[in-house]
Amino acid sequence: MTQVISRFEDLRSALTGSVVTADDPDYDEARREWNGDIDRRPSVVAYCVTAEDVAAAVVFARDASLEISVRCGAHSVSGMSVGDAGIVVDLTRMNDVQVDPVARRAVVGGGALQRDLDAATQAHGLAVPLGEIGHTGVGGITTGGGMGWLTRQHGLTCDNLVAAQVVLADGRIVRADADENTDLFWAVRGGGGNFGIVTSFELALHEVGPLIQLGMLFYGMDRAAEALRVSREVIADLPPDVSFEVVAMHAPPAPFVPEEHHLRRGLALCAVGFGAEDAHRAVVDRVRGALPPLFELVTPMPYVELQQMFDEAYGWGTRAYEKSLYLEGFTDDVIDVVVDGVGAMAPPTSAVFFYDLSGAYCDAEDASTAFSGERTPRLQVFILGMTPDGVPLTTERAWVRGFYDALAPHGIGRGGYANGLGVDDAHRVPAAYGTKYARLAEIKAAYDPDNLFHRNANIIPAP
Ligand SMILES: Cc1cc2nc3c(=O)[nH]c(=O)nc-3n(C[C@H](O)[C@H](O)[C@H](O)COP(=O)(O)OP(=O)(O)OC[C@H]3O[C@@H](n4cnc5c(N)ncnc54)[C@H](O)[C@@H]3O)c2cc1C
Repeated sequence: MTQVISRFEDLRSALTGSVVTADDPDYDEARREWNGDIDRRPSVVAYCVTAEDVAAAVVFARDASLEISVRCGAHSVSGMSVGDAGIVVDLTRMNDVQVDPVARRAVVGGGALQRDLDAATQAHGLAVPLGEIGHTGVGGITTGGGMGWLTRQHGLTCDNLVAAQVVLADGRIVRADADENTDLFWAVRGGGGNFGIVTSFELALHEVGPLIQLGMLFYGMDRAAEALRVSREVIADLPPDVSFEVVAMHAPPAPFVPEEHHLRRGLALCAVGFGAEDAHRAVVDRVRGALPPLFELVTPMPYVELQQMFDEAYGWGTRAYEKSLYLEGFTDDVIDVVVDGVGAMAPPTSAVFFYDLSGAYCDAEDASTAFSGERTPRLQVFILGMTPDGVPLTTERAWVRGFYDALAPHGIGRGGYANGLGVDDAHRVPAAYGTKYARLAEIKAAYDPDNLFHRNANIIPAP
C-alpha cells in the first residue's frame, strides 16, 4: 500500500495539474460521470492541464499497470470514462478555445465542452457541427463522429477536423493531419479514443447565426402515426438550410406548454432553419397544414440557446441506458413499431431521438474518415431510457431493449453509430465499422499494440 501511495506522489509531482485519490475529500466528485447509474471507484484521477501532463499520466499508468480511462465531457452513457481501480486521465481543465475568425479555424483543448466551443465560435458568428447538448464533451463527440443540428449543412464534427495533437500509448506527442501521420488522422475521425488521447483539435468553422429559426410542433400519441408520415414527406424534400428531427418525449412543464399537456407523451417535430426565414416558415407551415399540433413553439432563437435547449432536461445525475441504430426512414412498418414503442415509454425523462442525416452528411466520402456509418440518407435513432437522479432504471432498461429488438429488423448499415453503442453492445463494434474495421485494427496495432486505450468502442489490434 505504501508503495502505491508513494507512486501516486510520483504522479502528483510529475503533473502541472493535480491528482485525486480515495483519500482526498473531493474523491466522490472526481469519480462522477454524467450517467448517474455509473458508480465506479478509480484508484486515481489525474487532472491534466498540458499535453505533457497527459503523456506523463499515460507513461505512469503503463508502468504501474493501471487501466486507463480518458475523460472529457463524461457523457459516455456506458461509463467508459471512469473505470474501477484504474486511472482516469481527466482532460476537463484543458478546455481552452482559440478562434481565428479570418482563417475560420478553432483550436480546442481536448477536454473542452461543446458549450465552451459554441460560445467562443459564436462570438464571431461561426460554428462547427456538434451534438445537441452543451455539457457533452468535444473529445468524445469528435473522435466518435458528432452529429447534430448542423450536420445537414456542414457534416459531422469529425468531417470538420483539420488536425489533432495526440498523445500516443508510448507517451509521444504527435500531430495528425492530412500530411503527417495520415493513418492516425483518418482513424481519429470516427474511430473513437482507440489510438491515443487527443489533447487539441483544430476544427474548420462555418458562418452560423447568431439567430436561427426554431419550429417545434407537438403531437399526442393519438396522432403519432400521422405525424411520422408527415415527417417522412417533409424529410424527402427539405430545403438545404433546414434540419429536421423527431423527438419522442413527455411534454415538459415549460411556459410554452399549455398546462393540460404537461407530461403528455408524444412526438415533437422539430425544424431548425439556418438560412432564409421564408424557407423555414414554409417547412413549418407544411407540417402544421398537414396536421395541426397540440401546441407549438416557433421562434427565432440564438444558436447557442438551441445548442443548450435540452441541457437542463438531461442534466448530470440523470440515469441512462441506451441503444441506437440507423433506419432508412419512417417506412410504414417502422412507424408501426415506433408508435408501439413510444406508447410504452415511461414518464417523465426517457426519450427517443430521430436525427435526419442527409445533405452534407452524404456529401462526404464514406472512405474519407473512419466514421461508423455509410453516407446514404438515414435516420440515426437514439433510444434513451432515463430516470431522474437516484431513481432505478429497471423498467426503462427493459423498455429500451424491447423497443430496440422490435426496430432492429428494420435497421440499415453496418451496426450503428459507435458513439451510440450501449453498455452491453461491445460485440457490435466490428459490425459498426464494417469493412473499415480491418484497417482500424492495423492502425491500432501500429499505435497501440497493447490495447492500452481499450475503454471505448474497442478496436482489437491486428495480430
Ligand atoms: C445526454 C447526451 C446527449 C448526446 N447527444 C449527442 C448528439 O447530439 N450527437 C452525437 O453525435 N452524440 C451524442 N451523444 C453521444 C456522445 O457522442 C458520446 O457519449 C460521447 O462519447 C461523449 O463525449 P464526452 O467527451 O462527453 O464523453 P467522455 O465520457 O468524456 O468520453 C467518452 C470516450 O470518448 C473518448 N474520448 C473523450 N475525449 C477524448 C479525447 N480528448 N481524446 C481521445 N479520446 C477521447 C474516450 O474513449 C472516452 O472513453 C450524447 C450523449 C449523451 C449522454
